Parts: sequence; C-alpha cells; structure tokens
Amino acid sequence: MAAYHARVANRLPVVQVASPRYGANHPMTQDAKRVIVIGSGPSGAMAALTLVEQGLPVTMLESGRDVPDGFLIRAMGRNVFRRRPQPADTNHDVKGADAGATWVQSLVPGGLSNYWVGAAPRFSPDDFHEGERLHERYRWPLDYADLVPYYERVERLLRIVGDPHDVPNMPAPVVLQGRELPGAWRKVATYAASVGHGLAPMPLADGPNWMWAHTGVGFNSYTHVVRQLQRRPNFDLRVGAHALRLEWDGHTRTVTSVVYRDRTSGCDTRLPAIAVVVAAGPLASTKLLLNSGCSDFPDGLGNVEGLLGRYLHEHPRQWFPLELQGGMLPRLAQAAYLTRSPAEESTPLLGAGCTIGFVSTQDKLRSLMPSQTNRFGVLIFGTMVPIAENQLRLHLSSRDEFGLPNLDVHIQYTPDELQNMTAARTKLTSVLASAGYPCSVPKYMPDPVAGSSIHYGGTIRMHAAPHYGMLNAWNRLHAVANVVVADASAFTTGVEKNPTLTAMALAARASERLACDLRAA
Ligand SMILES: Cc1cc2nc3c(=O)[nH]c(=O)nc-3n(C[C@H](O)[C@H](O)[C@H](O)COP(=O)(O)OP(=O)(O)OC[C@H]3O[C@@H](n4cnc5c(N)ncnc54)[C@H](O)[C@@H]3O)c2cc1C
Repeated sequence: MAAYHARVANRLPVVQVASPRYGANHPMTQDAKRVIVIGSGPSGAMAALTLVEQGLPVTMLESGRDVPDGFLIRAMGRNVFRRRPQPADTNHDVKGADAGATWVQSLVPGGLSNYWVGAAPRFSPDDFHEGERLHERYRWPLDYADLVPYYERVERLLRIVGDPHDVPNMPAPVVLQGRELPGAWRKVATYAASVGHGLAPMPLADGPNWMWAHTGVGFNSYTHVVRQLQRRPNFDLRVGAHALRLEWDGHTRTVTSVVYRDRTSGCDTRLPAIAVVVAAGPLASTKLLLNSGCSDFPDGLGNVEGLLGRYLHEHPRQWFPLELQGGMLPRLAQAAYLTRSPAEESTPLLGAGCTIGFVSTQDKLRSLMPSQTNRFGVLIFGTMVPIAENQLRLHLSSRDEFGLPNLDVHIQYTPDELQNMTAARTKLTSVLASAGYPCSVPKYMPDPVAGSSIHYGGTIRMHAAPHYGMLNAWNRLHAVANVVVADASAFTTGVEKNPTLTAMALAARASERLACDLRAA
C-alpha cells in the first residue's frame, strides 16, 4: 500500500492556487497558519464555527458543489409540508465481503444534514462508562460532564423542540420550545419509569413553531452555519474541493498541507495548513486517512497500532407497526422515545431505544387535530459491541471517481446483537401492557441491514491509550498532534442514541482546545 501511495503522489501535478474568494495576495491565501476543515456536514460546520469564533483563519474544503433542493413549511409547531431530497449515493464506493452493507452518503454542502430527521438526544452519563465493565478498550477518554457545555451550545444552534426534563437514560436538552407527552401517554411514561426506562418526546432540531425554508429540514449545517460563516473575514469556503490526502512532514512530524481535487477544473491543489480538522463523515474520514499513508505511516496517517478502520459499528435498525388491542392512545404530534434499559441491568454495551411515531403519512396529517389511534410505527436502534474484526479497508482493485481505492466494508451482527433487538420489542410491549395497553407486533422481523441506520462510527476511535484508540481525549491523533478527527468515527462505543448531536459536541470541544493550543504555540 505504501508503494501505491508513493506512485499516486508522484503522478499528480499538484499546484498551489489562490483562494477563489481572496486572490493571490490575500493573507487567507498565503497564510500557512490557516486551519483546514474537511467537510461541511454538521461535524465540520461545528468545528469551523468554533474555530472562526476563536479568531483563527479557517479554510473549509467541501467536495460538493450544489445544495440539494428541499422545502419545509412549519405551522403551529408541526411540519405541515416537507419535501426532503433523497441522498444521491447509496452504496457508492462500498465494495467487499458484506455485499448487504450499505453506505449512504452525499457529496453536497451540508452533507447528510440535508436529509436528516433531526432527532438529537444526548448520550447519558452511563453511556460513557458502561463499556468499562466489559473491557478497558471500551473506556471513553472523557465523560458526560466534559460534554455538557458543548451539548448546550449545539442544542441552542439546533433549536431543539423537546421535553426540558431529565428522564431515565436521557438527560434533558436545552430547548427552544418545550413539548410534553399528550394525555394518556404520561401514564405509560410512569410505568416505563417504574422499570427504569424514560419515555419522552424525542428532542428534534425542528426550530420555531412557524417557519418556511428552502431546505427540507429544520436545521441544515450549510444553511444555518456555513453560509453565515461566509460573512466572516477569517473564513474561506471552497466548494467542489475534494480532499485527496493529508501530507505529513517527517521533519516537523506534523501534517503541513492537504491536497484536494477541484471537481470543476480537475486540477489538484496543495493547501498549506497549521492544523487540519477531518470531518468528512465517519466512512469518508477513515477513507481519507487510509489514503494518506506515507513512509512513516504506510498503513494510513497516524495508524501506528493497526487500528485505523477497525471497531466499525452501526445501529441495527428495525421498523414495525404496533397495534393496541382494545385500547387507543393519543396520536403523537412529535415522536416519543422509550429509552434503553438501565446499564446496570443490561449486558454491557447492549442497549436499544424505541422511537414511537406514525404508521403512515395520513396518520401524520390526522395528528394535526387531537385524536386517538390504536396503530403506531416503531423504530428501534440497537447497539453493537465494537470488535476489531468489523472494519473498513482499502479495496485492492476497485477505485472511486478520483482514482483512489474504494472502501471494503466488513460488518456483521452477532446473535446477541440481534437478540437485543427482540428483547427491546418485548420490553416495549410489556411497558404498554402494564400501563393497560396490551398490543401486538409482527411475529416475523427481517434481520437489520448494516448501514441502513446511516449511523456508522468507531473507525478512528478515541481512547486514552494509543494501543486501544487513535485519538486522544481532544479528538487529536495520538501520532499526529495537529490533526483532529471530529465526527462519529471518533466514538469509542456505539451508543444506541442518534449520533449527530454528540458528534457536533465533540467537534466543538476539540476545536476549542485546538484553537487554544494554536494560540499558545
Ligand atoms: C434520511 C436520514 C435521516 C437521518 N436522521 C438522523 C437523525 O434524526 N438524527 C441523527 O443524529 N442523525 C441522523 N442522520 C445521520 C446524520 O445525517 C449524520 O449523522 C450527520 O449528517 C453526520 O454529520 P457529519 O458532518 O459527520 O457527516 P456528513 O453529514 O456526511 O458530512 C460530511 C461532509 O463531508 C463532505 N466530504 C466527504 N468526503 C470529502 C472529501 N474527501 N473532501 C471534502 N469533503 C468531503 C461531504 O460532501 C459532506 O458535506 C440521518 C441521515 C439520513 C440520510
């Protein structure tokens, strides 16, 4: 693989060009003190926002050129019309052993936040510790308290609509609008709490009660963050700029530049930097580091212990209709979330959360008026115990549109992880039954398809010990002090909750520390 990297590096005619925005003589173009942020999805946007606010010059490289069209009308606190675009690429660039595994990605400004639902629960304090019972390798190098100020900052940005009270296994968010469960659902919540589960409206990045937007979502990281940053003198966005590799200097023992392909001209550009934040999404970030091998790191940048690409995890995902037998419950204008079993009662790292919402679009419309139903749609996200064998590698022969090796994805669920999904279904039905709402769910459920949650993570994991993780507690590569990896690839374990809020909080924390260190240097 080292020979491959050397061949590719020598073949490319790399030129250094001026920023399209500032011209050849502007300090933003010449200043090797800039921080390069790769990716304008939620993680990259949060990193760039933090760095710009700290006064650092930032250049963001974004592979996509056009923001996909969407449309949203929100009235009376409900999304009454929503046209969300479809992600462009599914299974693009994924090859290999597990043909069933999918990879949804879109090379567009704002990344997958153009399509997301906006569910943004915090991880709970236990989520950062429960893996320690299983093995030292599952110990996060930070805990919940370290992230609280950053959760708060991100929640304000996301304009969360949710319940501002703690429930078991899900801390309260900072909300723009408060929501509570309707009527009889509160009785179900009481029964859930008696067996250690929380039940509350899912915190959503929905924004104000009345709004319309030319995106299909309440929060999109391009519209709400990156576009605003373009007004700042110390921010430079380059769209259609696909990062090909980070370049390591063996003398300074730092990364000194990033090479990117201008997708319009086809030219490659070398951009000097004092530090780099990699936030291209978990799989693309891993691919970028794997493709940034050099003689000091033949198996990928910073990959001293052979960990890069390993410990891949995802949320096994199942959706099913649930039917109450005999009773009715209020339709849920905002989905409700039944949190996981308490960590101390569960097998370590096996948890599952159930999101309870609509069974059909018609049902959604009927929820505009207070009404009851006996049918709900349920989405379960389970967890995987991250193991080294589930991994991303560079494919030996298949190439992407930039001539770089595609990813070879290997991921499989264990019987315990599948059984955990069944147990979550049983728990949900028993909570409802004990509250006086016996119900039925389908007897047969197809096995989850890896990748369908779009919640991959773990392949550039954080751990205090380099032997167990590539990143330190500040998301910095142990082996390359000026490179931050700031997306869900950094997760030490695959907590069952939706990942984006936590990825953004980590990105903000890591970037604040980076700014502090750069100023002090
Ligand atoms: C339909 C759908 C619903 C979802 N719902 C939720 C939800 O409710 N809650 C939740 O938490 N998550 C949800 N997700 C997942 C969520 O969208 C992602 O977790 C989140 O967008 C990840 O943010 P990111 O910035 O790490 O990566 P991305 O959003 O993938 O952004 C990565 C960015 O990097 C760019 N890029 C990639 N490679 C390169 C390169 N080499 N050079 C330059 N730029 C590059 C891409 O163009 C992109 O803009 C959903 C996703 C989908 C598709």
